[in-house]
Amino acid sequence: MSSSGTYVNYIGGEWVAARSGETFESRSPGDADVLLGRFAASGAEDVDAAVSAAAEARAAWRRTSPIARANLLHRAAEILSTRVNDIGRELTIEEGKTLKEGIGETGRAVQILRYFAGEAQQPDGEHYPSANPDTLLYTVREPVGVVGIITPWNFPIAIPAWKIAPALAFGNTVVFKPASYTPLLAVRFIEALAEAGVPAGVVNLVTGSASGVGDPLVDDDRVAAISFTGSGVVGKAVAQRVYARGGKVQLELGGKNPAVVLADADLDHAINHLVSGAMWSTGQKCTATSRAILDASIADEVTSRLVERIEKLVTGDPLNAQTQVGPVISDEAANRILGDIESAEREGARLLAGGMRLSSDGRERGNFVAPTLFGDMNPESRFGQEEVFGPVLGITTVQDMDEALAVANGVRYGLSASIFTRDLGKAMKFINGIEAGIVHVNAETPGAEPHVPFGGYKSSSSYSREQGKTARDFYTQIKTVYVDLPSPA
Ligand code: NAD
Repeated sequence: MSSSGTYVNYIGGEWVAARSGETFESRSPGDADVLLGRFAASGAEDVDAAVSAAAEARAAWRRTSPIARANLLHRAAEILSTRVNDIGRELTIEEGKTLKEGIGETGRAVQILRYFAGEAQQPDGEHYPSANPDTLLYTVREPVGVVGIITPWNFPIAIPAWKIAPALAFGNTVVFKPASYTPLLAVRFIEALAEAGVPAGVVNLVTGSASGVGDPLVDDDRVAAISFTGSGVVGKAVAQRVYARGGKVQLELGGKNPAVVLADADLDHAINHLVSGAMWSTGQKCTATSRAILDASIADEVTSRLVERIEKLVTGDPLNAQTQVGPVISDEAANRILGDIESAEREGARLLAGGMRLSSDGRERGNFVAPTLFGDMNPESRFGQEEVFGPVLGITTVQDMDEALAVANGVRYGLSASIFTRDLGKAMKFINGIEAGIVHVNAETPGAEPHVPFGGYKSSSSYSREQGKTARDFYTQIKTVYVDLPSPA
């Protein structure tokens, strides 16, 4: 049994306990005996204090030069970069992805801070010709104000980074509510910003539950915009409430991401990417491959090779260098995934690998689900339609490219999609026909670089995009300025 410290909120430039004095624990999903710390179990009063601090800091931060804001983000990136290995290790213990992935994600947060430090210095408006030759006509992008940031646990430092860095770069102040499963990583990110010298009130962290912190943040009229990443059910309810009070909202939600393998594909390569796309990070990526759509002529071979590969995956302690698949985030998540596996079987899918909880060799102290493969996934079934969010891949066999595209598009989600083929014409047909915000040709569905737009079609998003140049769209509003020159005195 290990134990750790107590961590508090960051409000108005001070580290402060929840008004109630209450705390909650963060424990490792890989070993419930490992306690990462106790965190402020905040409520409406704490949110009110954080929003007040953010509202008060707003005017001065808006007036701070973008160059000065960029310098602060660069400094935070430098601070975080010296801690990547330690924080990456904490990420692995708190979230459960492997050490390589935990360190990789922390490094990505550094890169995101650097990217948005650069973006802060990019042009922030346009100049237009006017019908009147004496009119100076231009637009300027200004911050929206106080922004509420609500994040999931599965990328506990990268997602906060790709929301908070642009919010700050473009002159907004922030109240950040992280997922309750991963508060330590949220504290680590805010520590770097605070140590870099971000002024009091510009960024505020409030940890706690969805009802204690999420609800009052979403409903606060002083919060101009909410950027939310998480599940569809919660996101859509959040959006309705924000819209009802006239706020701005951005949603990044789930996926049911297809990978199509055509008969001419490099099968070794495709199989590698099906395994990594479905199983790395224990399948808990919004962009994870959850549907393998195989051309009938290669389906038997690919299926038997997938069974062999998936059965051999090493599942266990994510700190162990041999481990390929870590735990799922919680006991509740493990039970939900096992329930989805049972219901897939009831719907007629054929269990080919995994399908059970793993409880030997120390894994009884964590939430381990065996990497699972199903054949005969009916595209119309619940299993074929809904996100499982765990290490589960379903195979559907199709007769040709047209059927593959129809199956790939036949879900309400549209986040990421892949096709494996050597035929450029078929690849282009897929690129043009797929209803997805991200498309990969000959690579797994999860790959996403931090300097390009990220987001989904249909129910995977709110028709908005994060990251890259598009981040400016959400975190700013446009002012159109007409300056008519005065007539000479
Ligand atoms: P979740 O919807 O349960 O929670 C997300 C966040 O919302 C958490 O911080 C939670 O506390 C908060 N929340 C819950 N109820 C709230 C309420 N009533 N008001 C305000 N906030 C509330 O999602 P999760 O389980 O943390 O994350 C997994 C989901 O996130 C999956 O569906 C996954 O696909 C999705 N996801 C999407 C992306 C993307 O960019 N598209 C990235 C990562 C994860």
